[in-house]
Amino acid sequence: MSTFVVKGWCPDAWRPMMAGDGLLVRVRPPLGRLTRAQVLGLCDAATRLGSGRIDVTSRANLQIRGVREGSWRTLIDTLLDFGLIDPDPTREARANILVAPEWQAGDDTHRITEELRARLSELPDLPGKVGFAIDAGVAPQLQDAPADFRIERAAPGRLILRADGRKLGTPLSPSTEVDRLIGLARWFVESGGTVSGRMARHDAPLPDWAAATTPPAAFVPHVQPGPHPLGVALSLPFGRVSATALTRLVEAEIAIEAIRLAPRHIMICEAGVQLVSASDSADFITDPSSPLLRTDACVGAPACPQGSVETRALARRLAPHITGRLHVSGCAKGCARAAPADVTLTGREGRYDLAFDARPGAPPYRTGLDAAQILAQFGAT
Ligand code: SF4
Repeated sequence: MSTFVVKGWCPDAWRPMMAGDGLLVRVRPPLGRLTRAQVLGLCDAATRLGSGRIDVTSRANLQIRGVREGSWRTLIDTLLDFGLIDPDPTREARANILVAPEWQAGDDTHRITEELRARLSELPDLPGKVGFAIDAGVAPQLQDAPADFRIERAAPGRLILRADGRKLGTPLSPSTEVDRLIGLARWFVESGGTVSGRMARHDAPLPDWAAATTPPAAFVPHVQPGPHPLGVALSLPFGRVSATALTRLVEAEIAIEAIRLAPRHIMICEAGVQLVSASDSADFITDPSSPLLRTDACVGAPACPQGSVETRALARRLAPHITGRLHVSGCAKGCARAAPADVTLTGREGRYDLAFDARPGAPPYRTGLDAAQILAQFGAT
């Protein structure tokens, strides 16, 4: 198990990360899409070989949690059988590609992503968290999702290559998009970007051939939960679903052909019809006004050894009583949300600190609260 990554790296299936609840195995399905058979196979493996808990990250990756060390290789073989990971660990590490989730077969997003996946071996070795966004639909929609090199729509029929942190991008000629993307990744390494770690922190002037002149088109809103042209979009509370609940949904709805992963913990069920079982529930949110969509909560204690308080059950009870954004964090690290929230609860030595318009760990308004005191404070008893 000596190949398991340490903190600060970006884990993937071949390099899982040890978390408080066992190994965390990240899966990046090609094109962010799993067929019905792949979903059921993944859920079965997550139940047999892990804790049965599955996360969909803010960057639209899947994470199988609680995998036992002795079961990891069996899980890898299962993921290979289902075509969900690359047999080459180096290629898998480079396939950090976020795809605009509403792509259509044969469109620019689909075409460019397929070409990039076929040419992963041409990429240089990049820092672990560096990734790509292929956002070439009618308008870009991955604005908040982290990515270092972005191919985006600039105007009808025109695409740009944009380095993260720059407002403008380089116009692309048809069929040269991946050449340019690989070229910019090589320039990043050759110009010392590996030291900076991320494109947004690398302030070297772009090469002459990549002169940034053109802004992206206006971004369109993220996919919202509820009816969707492909079927239905479901939001996962806190980005988590149990393999049991996902299996139950797919088995109950034979119209589901595939599931696409989207940023902000969204799954789009490709079905073409209204789904009977996919209604608002503890497992799936379909109501775009649900207070849980305004709520962030990390896994907290006991799953995370750094957390000293329970987080998600309290967040569920509190959310309907909070105006604005709620963040319940197991400790001051604030993994679930980097930005301030209107109401922030931070675990500290088994109690909660309460702050307003703050990040976890900010100077609190009240300290040392228990859950009952917090619920009473917001009239949630
Ligand atoms: S915020 Fe703290 S308790 Fe929550 S997941 Fe991160 S390290 Fe763990």
